[in-house]
Amino acid sequence: MSFSQLVAERALVASGRCCCICHKFCGTKMELHHIKQRAYGGEDTFENCIPLCFDCHADMGKADPKHPKGKHYSESELIQHRDLWYKKIEKGFRERIGTICDADKQLFERICQVFSGPTGELLRDEDLRGTHVRNSFDTIYRLEYDFLDPFNEFIDAELEKLKGELREKMKKFTWCQSMTTYPIGADMPNHNATHLWLYNNGYILNRKVAPEKLQELEKQFEEEAEKLNDSATELWNCFCDFVRQGRRIINS
Ligand SMILES: [Zn+2]
Repeated sequence: MSFSQLVAERALVASGRCCCICHKFCGTKMELHHIKQRAYGGEDTFENCIPLCFDCHADMGKADPKHPKGKHYSESELIQHRDLWYKKIEKGFRERIGTICDADKQLFERICQVFSGPTGELLRDEDLRGTHVRNSFDTIYRLEYDFLDPFNEFIDAELEKLKGELREKMKKFTWCQSMTTYPIGADMPNHNATHLWLYNNGYILNRKVAPEKLQELEKQFEEEAEKLNDSATELWNCFCDFVRQGRRIINS
């Protein structure tokens, strides 16, 4: 047995299909988690249900009450997260009278500032398969870190949902940037480059690689570089949506 259709629908509507922990919009990529595990007598009720994204749901598996170690989620904490989020959705989507508080407006401006100017131009225009100044994206890393602070949560649920989507794309991009680019060295200090660029410019000699394997390696470098470029474009497009929809909410 699992949650009934009725319970599932109620929970999905109440959460706006957003994760109750990280507030990301999930669409169909959503799990309905038993707050009190079924093995411990948890029921298939609306009260015992919390909608979560795949990532947050994966964290729940570690929360065995018989082995309390680390900062796991307790049942009462989960209930609080869920109830607060349901309230935000209810307020945001059904009862919003049309005023966005100053704190939300300031946070919106701050996020916009990070992406406007040189950082945004790099994401939008630059071919990152080549080289770039290493600290070009520091402001994005910084913002990602700042999002861990509850003071940097929007009070308005719709804005918070938009932020959740942006945050996902930021995570993906910073992960790609840190995992697929490397310092060039003394020739171009403070610059990073992809494997592809390093290879094409003679920094990787690959004497040990058999000629027939070389093609495979080149293909791998191409794909890696493409992934970085794609994640930059995705982040930029997501930021544009954030601005378009966010401005409408703020000025409604
Ligand atoms: Zn989540």
